[in-house]
Amino acid sequence: MMAQVVIVGAVGALERLTYMVPASIAEQLTPGHRVLVPLRSRRVTAIVTQVGDNLDSGGAVPKAIIELLEPRPLFDPAHLQLIEFLASYYMVPIGEAFRNVLPSLARVESRQMYRLATAPSLLAQIAFTPLEREIVEALTKRPMTLRQIDRLAESGELKTAIRRLTADGWITSREATRGRHRERTPKDRGHVASEGIGPLEPLARPIERTACDYAQTFGLELTAEQVAAVSAVTSPIRQRQFEPFLLWGVTASGKSEVYIRLASEALAAKRQVLVLVPEIALADQLVGSFRNRFGPLVAVAHSAQNVAERWASWMAALNGDARIMIGPRSAIFAPINDLGLIVVDEEHDSAYKQEEGIRYNARDLAVVLARLASCPVVLGSATPSAESYANGRRARYRMLQMTQRVQQREFARVEIIDLRQQRAAAGQTRTTAPMERATTYQTLGSNALIPPVPQPLSCGRVETSEAAADGAGSAALADQVPLSPPLIEALRENLAAAGQSLVFLNRRGYHNFLQCHLCGNVITCPNCSVSMTFHLRGRMLRCHYCGTSEPAPDKCFECGGFGLEGEGFGTERLVHALARLFPSARIDRMDSDTSGRRGARSAILRGVRSGNVDILVGTQMITKGLDFHNVTLVAVVLADLSLNMPDFRSAERTFQLLTQAAGRAGRGERLGRVLIQTYAPHHYSVRAARDQDYARFIRREMELRRELMYPPFARLALVRIEGDEPAHVSDDATKIATLLAHAAKPESMRVLGPAPAPIERIKQRYRWQVLLKARERNELRAALAKVSSYPARDGIRVSIDIDPLNML
Ligand SMILES: [Zn+2]
Ligand SMILES: [Zn+2]
Repeated sequence: MMAQVVIVGAVGALERLTYMVPASIAEQLTPGHRVLVPLRSRRVTAIVTQVGDNLDSGGAVPKAIIELLEPRPLFDPAHLQLIEFLASYYMVPIGEAFRNVLPSLARVESRQMYRLATAPSLLAQIAFTPLEREIVEALTKRPMTLRQIDRLAESGELKTAIRRLTADGWITSREATRGRHRERTPKDRGHVASEGIGPLEPLARPIERTACDYAQTFGLELTAEQVAAVSAVTSPIRQRQFEPFLLWGVTASGKSEVYIRLASEALAAKRQVLVLVPEIALADQLVGSFRNRFGPLVAVAHSAQNVAERWASWMAALNGDARIMIGPRSAIFAPINDLGLIVVDEEHDSAYKQEEGIRYNARDLAVVLARLASCPVVLGSATPSAESYANGRRARYRMLQMTQRVQQREFARVEIIDLRQQRAAAGQTRTTAPMERATTYQTLGSNALIPPVPQPLSCGRVETSEAAADGAGSAALADQVPLSPPLIEALRENLAAAGQSLVFLNRRGYHNFLQCHLCGNVITCPNCSVSMTFHLRGRMLRCHYCGTSEPAPDKCFECGGFGLEGEGFGTERLVHALARLFPSARIDRMDSDTSGRRGARSAILRGVRSGNVDILVGTQMITKGLDFHNVTLVAVVLADLSLNMPDFRSAERTFQLLTQAAGRAGRGERLGRVLIQTYAPHHYSVRAARDQDYARFIRREMELRRELMYPPFARLALVRIEGDEPAHVSDDATKIATLLAHAAKPESMRVLGPAPAPIERIKQRYRWQVLLKARERNELRAALAKVSSYPARDGIRVSIDIDPLNML
């Protein structure tokens, strides 16, 4: 018997190979098994894709599989097909696809390790050639692989030297293996993989309660809309049928409860459940609800997990100990081999898109996997993406609507504050009452949490001295924290009423950038074409694209003068402005600067939950999934930030952010209030968010997308060309664009570019791009096939992003 396998990580001719199946494992071996096979002089990991008597081995006599690594196949037929789909749709080699989806521990590999065979003290007297001496000395420090030794010299000489040293007995080589062989479970300890493995074992404590029992057990009454949603999805779960659903439920309509009821249905049908969330760190409330109901049957895959933890959660799913897997996008590949239900929560979220390596979208793959596994998939959102909404309208997905909030809670009252008017009003105030002079970054102490300027304010704006001096110019405006009187008043009232407030600003740091007022120089990142952000904590300048940070300078690099001043504002500065306005308020901040460490985020949230925080300032992190009953005011400081991005999805993202933010208010007994400050009060996304009217927003958005031929009315692919040498990058980009233009039929496909990317340089690499728009996917693929075989010059990386989300 023979088996066809994919060598994990291999490319080209070595990707798919045929091996003999030893008699000892012939009965067990099925497609999806992880095996160890010989490849040239090494042993490598492979995944079996086909087993049979007459497989084509390309004429060569096949070698035998060395070892079966798990008793149970790591991939079931549905996941095997999913990975084939992944490779084909995103146009990557299949060996690469497997390498990307497997936890790194699962990749067992052997390498020849060279080490000294004698005591180092003996070597001093020997007459070695200079190269031999170099090798011996390198090995004195540590054993090395051939590849590591290779760096010492030309390979021809090196081989001779190694042969001589080995023959004379000075050095020796041995095969060393890295990676996890197998998870030894109690039942296979001792004689691994010697017995046949049946279906998942029944649970010790069978789950037989149905959705209705849960309602009784937990005393929760579902709304009529929740009941309808649950019953719609229940029948394909029971009948093991594929059906995609779009669960469009307003904020606080009880989507989580629907997921939980459906999960219990799937468990009752003795199947497993996959729940995808955008970011596991932001999903603690959902994870908590699942844990409350299902206890140890829930496994959680973190992106912050180390390799061993990730592998352990895979094994728990594979062995059937975990019946429900909750995880971020990569969990789509976890070995949940008897799927009865897939849930994609917040399906519109861009975190489902992988932005490195294979740029897949887990939301889209979830629908593919559900079809392959014959189970329903539920895509849930209060603000469905335009793509999913279109699929709902075209009846590709069945739309389930939930328009009511649970327990008849009312929607928060949303008001728009026109910052243009506020600015005009403040200009008049300025002549009668002096505005506060602001602290520039120069005058702030490095450890000052709150700047020591507790003066009363006539208006909440915090200005730089420059801005105060030159009046109400528009340049000055960018440099103020725009806290309008109505917003300040609302915060004051909410504080007095002991309500909690969320203040949302989607930008980190203290000042947006530092600029020299003597010569105009703006300090930019040495590696990227973006300005660096000033963080008061530690007085550092940081690049938000590559992570470079350096101490903020005193003098301008350009003119040598002391002219540097901070411009613009982020969450750090907003906290300071609020602290001066409300000295007795307890203010905390949540953004990736304050919640990076494990546990830091939950500590902040505990503070809010226990009532120890009056005002929580944060980036979009605070708009997602938080459910605090005492939050009665949500303030959006500047809605325009996401609106002004150079991206056709900016209106959609703005609407989603504002709706999610507004949804955080009024989730308890008390009515919520939401204030949105903006310079674009008439923009359709802002107005629709005010009225919490998704339907109106999406109608308008669809019209525009159709007109401009953007998704969901067209297919997009972005070809990125990156390299260190700007002239080479632009030259290759031009050639690729020409190639694509030749392949395009002008009536059905458009080639935009080549052009420098909006952020022209990141991490010292120059970036150009070519955007393809086509009506049909096949046309796009035909053109892109030419790009795959384009011979880019050394140092240039060409990558293809299918259905791109990040256009920067
Ligand atoms: Zn200067
Ligand atoms: Zn940078």
